[in-house]
Amino acid sequence: MERTFAIVKPDAVKSGKAGQILARIEAAGFTIRGMRLQHLSLKEAEGFYAVHAARPFFGELTQFMSSGPCVLLCLEAPDAIKKWRDTMGATDPAKADAGTLRRDFGMSIGNNATHGSDAPETAAFELGYFFRGMEL
Ligand code: ATP
Ligand code: MG
Repeated sequence: MERTFAIVKPDAVKSGKAGQILARIEAAGFTIRGMRLQHLSLKEAEGFYAVHAARPFFGELTQFMSSGPCVLLCLEAPDAIKKWRDTMGATDPAKADAGTLRRDFGMSIGNNATHGSDAPETAAFELGYFFRGMEL
């Protein structure tokens, strides 16, 4: 078993798609081990996306991620990190495969509905950033 960190981003919560996305998560075979609705501050979003601090879109990204509540999730499944990335699809919804969450719920490369950790090290950092051990 493996755990990964996922976010239903503010765009999807705002447009009332969180429930549908959670249903798709369960239908795909993930077990939800942790879940919390939270409106991130700008500082919290900047800390979470610190690896992207030098990117030109960092300001836009962190403003967006702190623009409204999002759903923070710990998901568990065999090979969960890759499985969740596959379930989300490509970063840009226009390039995401049919049947993926970003294709179905994302509006643009910035407003792309979901986040997922990209490696075991980032999953460990991101889960620890948002969840205490006792919550999982
Ligand atoms: P995430 O980390 O959110 O799961 P990702 O791993 O597919 O997405 P990253 O390269 O880590 O993609 O980029 C982080 C986020 O930054 C993307 O999800 C997207 O919302 C935003 N982003 C990436 N590239 C751009 C861009 N060119 N313009 C605007 N926003 C971008
Ligand atoms: Mg990423």
